[in-house]
Amino acid sequence: MIKSLSKISTHVGSRIAIGIVVIVVLMLSLTIAGVNYMSQVNVRMNDIVNNNNVKMEMAHIMQNSLRERALNMYIMTIVDDDFLKDDEYQRFNIHAAAYYQARKKMEELASTPEEKEILTRIGTLTRSAQSDVQEVVDLLLKGSALQHYDAIRNKVMPKQKLINDQVVELVALQKKQTIAAVNEAESSYQYARKLMLALGGIASLLVIAVATLVGQKVSKQAHDLQYQAFHDVLTGLPNRALFLDRLSHAIVRSHREGLKFTIILLDLDRFKEVNDTLGHNVGDQLLQEVSRRLLDTIRKSDTVARLGGDEFVILLEQLDLEHALSVAEKMSNSLDRPFKLADQKIDVSASFGLAYFPEHGEDSISLLQKADMAMYSAKNNHSSCAVYSSDLDKISRSDLTFKSEFLQAISHDELVLYFQPKIDLGSGKITSVEALVRWQHPQRGFLAPDLFIPMAEQSGLIDQMTFWVLKHALLQCAAFKNAGLDITVAINLSARSLRDVMLPVEILSRMVNAGIEPAMLVLEITESAVMSDPVAALKVLEVLDNMGFVLSLDDFGTGYSSLAYLMKLPVDEIKIDKSFVLGMADDNQSAVIVRSTIDLGHNLGKKVVAEGVETLELWNALAKWGCDTAQGYYMSKPLPADKLTQWLQESQWGLASKV
Ligand code: C2E
Ligand code: CA
Ligand code: CA
Repeated sequence: MIKSLSKISTHVGSRIAIGIVVIVVLMLSLTIAGVNYMSQVNVRMNDIVNNNNVKMEMAHIMQNSLRERALNMYIMTIVDDDFLKDDEYQRFNIHAAAYYQARKKMEELASTPEEKEILTRIGTLTRSAQSDVQEVVDLLLKGSALQHYDAIRNKVMPKQKLINDQVVELVALQKKQTIAAVNEAESSYQYARKLMLALGGIASLLVIAVATLVGQKVSKQAHDLQYQAFHDVLTGLPNRALFLDRLSHAIVRSHREGLKFTIILLDLDRFKEVNDTLGHNVGDQLLQEVSRRLLDTIRKSDTVARLGGDEFVILLEQLDLEHALSVAEKMSNSLDRPFKLADQKIDVSASFGLAYFPEHGEDSISLLQKADMAMYSAKNNHSSCAVYSSDLDKISRSDLTFKSEFLQAISHDELVLYFQPKIDLGSGKITSVEALVRWQHPQRGFLAPDLFIPMAEQSGLIDQMTFWVLKHALLQCAAFKNAGLDITVAINLSARSLRDVMLPVEILSRMVNAGIEPAMLVLEITESAVMSDPVAALKVLEVLDNMGFVLSLDDFGTGYSSLAYLMKLPVDEIKIDKSFVLGMADDNQSAVIVRSTIDLGHNLGKKVVAEGVETLELWNALAKWGCDTAQGYYMSKPLPADKLTQWLQESQWGLASKV
C-alpha cells in the first residue's frame, strides 16, 4: 500500500514537473512570439517613417525638375545670345538628370501595385515625350527661337502636364498609404501590448521577469518609434496625426461636459524668404525657436502642434473666445520680437486664424477649415489675427460648392471686368486702365474681388480666372487700338501665377493671337506675392520682362522687400499702396513714406504710381513731389467698359488722349 502510495506520489511529482516544464515552455514560446510580433511592428513603423520621407522627397524632386525644365525651355526661346542659350541648355540637362535619378529611386522603393502602376505610366509618358522634347530643344538651339513657342505650347507642354498630373497622383497616393500604414501599425502595436499583458497575468515569475525585461526594452523601442510617428522631428511638437487625435478627444470631452474650446491656426508670413535667402539651416532653427516661443505662451494642458512647413496649430482647452484672442495676441507679440540666428536679426510675423467649438464647427475637419479661412482672411486684410465668422462663408460654404460655382462663373461669363483709369500727373491725361474683376453672382449678388480671389487661389482656379481676365482685357486693348487711343491695360497676377512657368508663354501666345504688342499690357504683381517666393518670382519676372511686358510692383510698402532685392527686380514701375496715400491726409509719417518712395523709385529708374488718390489735395501734393501717375476715386472709380467709353469722351482726364 505504502509502496503503491509512494509510486503514485512520484508519478504526480513527475507529472507536476512535466506540467511546469510544459507551462514554462509554453510561456516562453508565447513570450518569444509576442516579442517577435512587437519587433515586427517596430520594423514596420521604422520603414514607414524612413521610406515615406525618401519617397516624398523624390516625388518633389520630380515635380521640381519638370517645372525647372519647362522654365529652361521658355528662357531658351527668348535669349538670342548663344552662350546664354547654351548655359540654359546645360541647366535643362542637369534637371533632366535629377528627374531621372529621382524616378529610378522611386521605382526601386515602390512597394505597392498602385505605386508601380503610376510609375509605369510615368515611365511610358516620359519615354513618349522624350523625342518631342529633344526635337524642340534642337530647334531652340539652332536659331532664333521665338517662332517655336507654338511647338513648346502644343507639343511639349501638354505631355509635360500629363507627366506632372501623374506625379501629383503619386504624392497623393503616398500620403494615403502612410496614413493607412501608421493606423495599421498602431493597432498591431496595441494588439501586441494586450498579448504581453495577458501573458504577464498567467505566466510564472520567471516568465514574467523575462517577459517584462525583454518587453520593457522592446516596448521602449516601440514607444520611441511611435513618438517619431506622432511628433515632428525638427521641433519635437506633436504632428498633424497626433493633433487630430487630441482634437477629437477634446470634442468628445466637450460634448460630455458641455465645455467650449478654441483652435488657433497660424502661419509665418516671411518664412519662405528666410529659407531661400539664409538657407535651410537657419530656417530650421527659426522654426525651433518659434515653437519654443509658442510653447512659452500657453498652459501645460494646451497643445501646440506643427502641421507642416511653417504652419502651426494650437488647441486651447476650456477657454472662451475672448481669452483665446488674448493668447493669440500674446503669441503674435512674442513672434514680433526679432529672432537672432546665425548672427543676423530676423523679423518674422504670423497670421492667426481662430475657430471656436462648437459654434464654428462640430468636427475636427470643419474646425480646422474654419480656422484656415479665418487665417487667410487675416492675411488678406494684413491684420495679424482674425476670428472665423459666417461672413467668410458668403463665398466659401464649402470648397466643392465654391469650385463648381466659380467654374460656372468663368464659363458663363458671370465675372465682369471694371476698369480704373491711371492718370499722368504731368499732363493730366489718361495713360492706362487697370482691369479689376467682380462677380455678378446669380444668388448672392455683386461680389467684390476680396470675397472670392483668396478662395480662387486656394482652390487652384486662379489661373483660369486670370486667363478669363486676360481675354477681356485684350478685348479692351483692341478697342483702344481701333479707336486710335494710346492707352495700356493693366491686369493683376496672383502669387500663384508667379510660380507657374507656363504662364509667360500662355500670356504671350494669347497676345500674339489677339494681334496686340506685349508693351500694351501691364502686369501688376503685388510686392508680397513676389516676396512669398522671391527666387521663383524673379525667374518668371525676368522671362516676362524679356518678352516685353510692362511690369508693375503693386501694393508697394506692404511686402517688406529689401532695397537690395528691389534693385534686382526687372519691374518698370512701382505702385505705392493706397494705405500710405490715403494716410497722407491725417498723418505726417505717411506723407514722408510716400515722398521718399517716389524718390527711391526714381533713383532706381522706375516710374512711380500712387493709388488711392481721393482728393484734389492729394493730387496736388503728389504732382509737387514729382510722382508720375495717379489712380483713385478723385479722377474715377473703377467703371464697366461702356461707362469707361463715356468717361473717356466726357471727362477732363479722358479728352484728347489720342496718339
Ligand atoms: P489692387 O490691385 O490694389 O486694386 C486697387 C483697389 O483699390 C481696387 O479695389 C480699387 O477699386 C481700389 N481703389 C482705387 N482707387 C481708390 C481710392 O481712391 N480709394 C480707395 N479707398 N480705394 C481705391 P478692388 O477693385 O476692390 O480690388 C481689390 C483687390 O482685388 C485688388 O487690389 C487686387 O489685389 C484684387 N484683384 C482685383 N481684380 C483682380 C484680378 O483680376 N486678378 C487678381 N489676381 N487680383 C485682382
Ligand atoms: Ca493692382
Ligand atoms: Ca494696389
